[in-house]
Amino acid sequence: MMGGAPLDWGAVVREIRAGAKVPLQGEIPFDRPREACGVFGVYAPGEDVSRLTYFGLYALQHRGQESAGIAVGDGEDVLVYSKLGLVTQVFDEKVLDGLTGTHAIGHVRYSTTGSSARVENAQPAFMTRRDGGGIALGHNGNLVNPLDLARELEAEDIEVDASTDSHLITALLARQESSDLVEAFGSVAPKLRGAYSITAMDESRVVAVRDKYGVRPLVIGRLASGGWVFASETCALDIIAADYIRDVEPGELVVADADGLRSHTLFEPSPRLCVFEYVYFARPDSELFGRSVYEVRRAMGKQLADEAPADADLVIPVPETASAAAQGYADRTGLPYAEGFVKNRYVYRTFIQPSQSMREKGVRMKLNPLPRVIEGKRLAVIDDSIVRGTTTRETVEMLRRAGAREVHLRVASPPIKWPCFYGIDTANRNELIGSDKSIDQIREFVGADSLGYLSVDGMLISTGVPTERFCHACFSGGYPIEVPEETARTKHVLEMPRRANGNGRKPLPITAQHAEPLPGINVE
Ligand code: SF4
Repeated sequence: MMGGAPLDWGAVVREIRAGAKVPLQGEIPFDRPREACGVFGVYAPGEDVSRLTYFGLYALQHRGQESAGIAVGDGEDVLVYSKLGLVTQVFDEKVLDGLTGTHAIGHVRYSTTGSSARVENAQPAFMTRRDGGGIALGHNGNLVNPLDLARELEAEDIEVDASTDSHLITALLARQESSDLVEAFGSVAPKLRGAYSITAMDESRVVAVRDKYGVRPLVIGRLASGGWVFASETCALDIIAADYIRDVEPGELVVADADGLRSHTLFEPSPRLCVFEYVYFARPDSELFGRSVYEVRRAMGKQLADEAPADADLVIPVPETASAAAQGYADRTGLPYAEGFVKNRYVYRTFIQPSQSMREKGVRMKLNPLPRVIEGKRLAVIDDSIVRGTTTRETVEMLRRAGAREVHLRVASPPIKWPCFYGIDTANRNELIGSDKSIDQIREFVGADSLGYLSVDGMLISTGVPTERFCHACFSGGYPIEVPEETARTKHVLEMPRRANGNGRKPLPITAQHAEPLPGINVE
């Protein structure tokens, strides 16, 4: 059971109303966009659902490295196990042996804070329904109106022992009069504004839900045994030999249970997939909109070569997300391609950060250049994106120390000018080097001989998908989902104020009576 006092939502709301600046306590600066989460779900009676979920999460580890969790259901109970750490650190044979059932969901998470990571924010979130049953939920994305939901729960004196919008959604579902998970979503979904790809479950079924914009991906797969699978990316289907069936459509809720698979339309779809999934987040062996992420990245590299050619001897990628774009760049320019860096394959998020003096000594956590490859060469260095610019500057410095004659930096996406409110941590606007600096000022900051970016149009055209089906707000400022001013002020409204960490999961005490009639669900 979880320790610590419940979060004082009233204080959060009052401070936001008063225009308080939200302190990001314990935040460690980062220089890559960070994915918030990966979700998974399986309904497969007779199969080892916890191990299927484990391997699904293993394939989705790149989407979140701070915590991992699995919930299982067996027709009578819902059991949740989650902890801080990588999937391989959180689960072992003994734990998985204890997680038996007919269906399961899983979640990997990357929170927006560093050293102050909170175990109670790990997912799947769990809440007790009014009838005593349970709901477990994993969420990828971010809502833009979490304070509205927090106020609603606060007004009913409902306590939530965590500070994520995902736990708020679970609490809202749990307080519904109906114990039917589909009906509960029908009532709660209209209150949710923002991005959500969700897998959730009760004692007897798994549901997969996607917001009407489908900002974050979510796919359906099928096991040879006939079981159904839901996952953030197709790579999580491949690892368990499940066939890709189709995407969960934007605005759709899909149920998998003893009656098979059923689809419900919650909203008319208005697709706006995050284009950054193609640029950086998704694994290259996944498919989005039916297009290989690897192939799209290659196409972006070719387009970049057309838009920003470089007078160079050799093309090298900044490993490893830029590798496909670099190959495309080399193909189009006819320049030779080589690996100029070695990447430590086992570096994921570390909870031990190098000290300042270690940083100053140039401790290389992730990349090490190959001097024999780059010495004396004019390099076209391909990266996928630049956030703050500090890591890029270190990378350029590293190449020069290793003997590069010239460094021509080419970026296979446009400058990031705006923050993301839909589930990606791209830093605040004043921390984004692309928000107020010209290309030449950025070039000067990172120390490159020349700098070129892919254009917004070039990026979108490279996907081969109609351009109106994407969110590209962090590049263009055109937000498809309106962001309330109080959310725009800070992306981390629910991360304040802080409490002591707990070490387990606590069911929500449902104390308030809910008198409103349930809105009906629009069922296909
Ligand atoms: Fe993706 Fe950028 Fe849109 Fe966020 S703002 S969903 S990172 S394209």
